[in-house]
Amino acid sequence: MRVLVVEDDKDLNRQLGDALADAGYVVDRAFDGEEGHFLGDTEPYDAIILDLGLPQMDGLSVLERWRRDGRKTPVLILTARDRWSDKVAGIDAGADDYVAKPFHIEEVLARVRALIRRAAGHASSEISCGPLRIDTKTSRATVDGAPLKLTSLEFRLLAYLMHHLGEVISRTELVEHLYDQDFDRDSNTIEVFVGRLRKKMGVDMIETIRGMGYRIRAPEAPAG
Ligand code: CA
Repeated sequence: MRVLVVEDDKDLNRQLGDALADAGYVVDRAFDGEEGHFLGDTEPYDAIILDLGLPQMDGLSVLERWRRDGRKTPVLILTARDRWSDKVAGIDAGADDYVAKPFHIEEVLARVRALIRRAAGHASSEISCGPLRIDTKTSRATVDGAPLKLTSLEFRLLAYLMHHLGEVISRTELVEHLYDQDFDRDSNTIEVFVGRLRKKMGVDMIETIRGMGYRIRAPEAPAG
């Protein structure tokens, strides 16, 4: 899962970015409205944290432009405390949720998790399919209750597929959501990671759709 943080306060931007990275997200950062707008317009994020008070272009205008251009990425806005009119204006402009400053990082993390989950149509932090279960809150995965030892990249890959259960996800899409913008993106490495995941899972659940990508499906019930 890839998240963009648009916040001009350098310390706050760093704190948010570090906490998100620790929680297993890939994070891109922007420090003004123009840069933020550009990234949100051109990169496929799973969620965006957007401060409203930004230089170059204010957060509300950034959000309005994205929505006008049909960008549906879930957006969490950061508002000044007691500025209820900002919250109303932000939600009217297309924000999915807000957090008022000052906030606890944990609250932001919980709201981002919920936004991503809801965007994928899941009601709780756990997503399961057959014997496989992932918890997006703790970044843990189990097969038949037995924990899998996954690297953060392997978990991200599995979580992305699980958030899009039943859909065929192309390698390009995976690369775009699993690595940040500076990463040397080679879609062949995805195949390597899928191979490792399959080995660790031990159940045949990641299906390769030739020429198209991958899909998670429940193992077929034994015949008879
Ligand atoms: Ca600000």
